[in-house]
Amino acid sequence: MLSERWDAIVIGAGHNGLVCAAYLAKAGMQVLVLERSHRIGGASITEELVPGCQFSTFAYNANGPGPKICRELEIPAAAIEVVSPNPTMFFPFPDGDHLLLWADEKKTLAELSRFGPREAEGYIAYQRLMQAGKQIAKDFFYQPPPTTQQLYDRYEGTEFAVALEAMLTRSHWEVLCDHFENDKVRVALARADDVGYPTTVGSLLAEVVESANDGVGVQGLAGIPRGGMGSITAALAAAGRRFGVEIRTESPIEQILVEHGSAVGVRLVGGEIVRAARVISNADPKRTFLKLLDRNELSSTFHAQVAQLKTLAGNMKYHAVLKGLPRFTALPDHLADDPRAIAGVRIAPQLEYFERAWRDCLAGIPSREPVLSLQLPTAYLPELAPPGKHLFGAWVRYGPQELQEGTWETWRPQVIESILSILETYAPGFRDLIEWQRLYTPADIQKETGITGASIRHLDMTLDQMLHQRPLPAWSAYQTPLEGLWLCGSGTHPCGSVTGAPGHNAAQAILQKR
Ligand SMILES: Cc1cc2nc3c(=O)[nH]c(=O)nc-3n(C[C@H](O)[C@H](O)[C@H](O)COP(=O)(O)OP(=O)(O)OC[C@H]3O[C@@H](n4cnc5c(N)ncnc54)[C@H](O)[C@@H]3O)c2cc1C
Repeated sequence: MLSERWDAIVIGAGHNGLVCAAYLAKAGMQVLVLERSHRIGGASITEELVPGCQFSTFAYNANGPGPKICRELEIPAAAIEVVSPNPTMFFPFPDGDHLLLWADEKKTLAELSRFGPREAEGYIAYQRLMQAGKQIAKDFFYQPPPTTQQLYDRYEGTEFAVALEAMLTRSHWEVLCDHFENDKVRVALARADDVGYPTTVGSLLAEVVESANDGVGVQGLAGIPRGGMGSITAALAAAGRRFGVEIRTESPIEQILVEHGSAVGVRLVGGEIVRAARVISNADPKRTFLKLLDRNELSSTFHAQVAQLKTLAGNMKYHAVLKGLPRFTALPDHLADDPRAIAGVRIAPQLEYFERAWRDCLAGIPSREPVLSLQLPTAYLPELAPPGKHLFGAWVRYGPQELQEGTWETWRPQVIESILSILETYAPGFRDLIEWQRLYTPADIQKETGITGASIRHLDMTLDQMLHQRPLPAWSAYQTPLEGLWLCGSGTHPCGSVTGAPGHNAAQAILQKR
């Protein structure tokens, strides 16, 4: 079966594929997006998993695509609306203590002062360093990936040099220890979602780049989207269609077709062939090169390099419908009845806790005491569930890419039990509130989203897989060794997450070469 020839085929209607397609169509190209799933959005979707309950099944927190992309793609302000939580995060500790971070810096400083005389001062200095880092990241966010040498040259002798040095040579944990004396404060601020462990060199770079995005929508606010994460991808799809993009769902691509070393189209499962001047893959690099291409089209060195890319920081996702508000014993009395106080909760009370979770994952075991990031979107958006009910979600870290033993079906009840026993410790009575629950294991996430190993950023954001090395040193500027084949997904510069920047940058690179 043969069909028409397009200027560009985009493999996948994830948010980056949609952004890339829209820019190309706006520049006058005939663009076809082919998506394997029955829905658009990739990992950024809203689903009615239970009647009357709208879940952001995978990604939850929106920090992009920001004003630049939304303005350039003419997305109406009303199409994407977010609520910014305040407090921003609640950290309960096993001894009954807690730490609350607020949108209002004065309140955060007052809270930190409870933990020691120098913690507030440390926070101001830490924020200064992070802001400098974010400025560096903002400078390269919508640009081709820089080399580290280019960055050193650009910022040498400037006020940004210290932050740059820290991003490229130190871990997030080391930098936290520079600024804070109290371990509770350090661990509350530590993050390692994208690299596995906060003492890994490069974890600071990952944290800075991820948070450098300028908020979502025309207003550029970060938070919980009204209508869930699917509202963002719906707005991007609508924008693309206005520029003429055609999007076909339930169109899984089996193979990228190559003739004389150039990508010339795709073959769908079922045999349909669609030809195009260029093929742009929104799928992750491992899926693109290891599954969608004939092995003989790539040099064995390149193939081996792709196979070795790190996708270790696998995630799980837990969802529940609750018939009431969970009660965290560590929450101060005056906030006990305020659902907003627990709209964002992180349970990882010591560095060793992070370490154990990560070590389990490396050993092929789902973390026995997982790092839990909890979400209660109905605290701000009660319309997402029927009256009186709460939607509850958790990122559960980590799920190994390959299990040492057993299958995900045999592990599923055990993982749910680990999650519930932790929740029961911090919020007694939690189990009794559950009306419905579901765990998405890494295998489920991979099946639903197509993301290899449920590595949520497509590739771990380790130092060796960032900047000019994302996804690979010689192939970081959206081009691939095959003429006419491009990448535009989260496995490319600048990072994973819902930012739209890889899709934007890929489109610019393609248009420059047109
Ligand atoms: C559980 C989870 C929680 C997350 N939480 C957050 C969060 O709160 N905030 C945040 O910013 N980010 C979060 N992320 C990360 C973020 O969702 C991803 O980095 C981002 O959505 C990836 O976007 P993308 O467009 O690059 O790729 P994807 O969203 O992965 O889209 C790729 C698309 O390609 C399609 N595809 C793959 N193979 C084929 C094929 N053969 N044929 C046709 N189509 C194909 C897929 O079906 C998919 O639609 C989370 C991710 C997960 C999984």
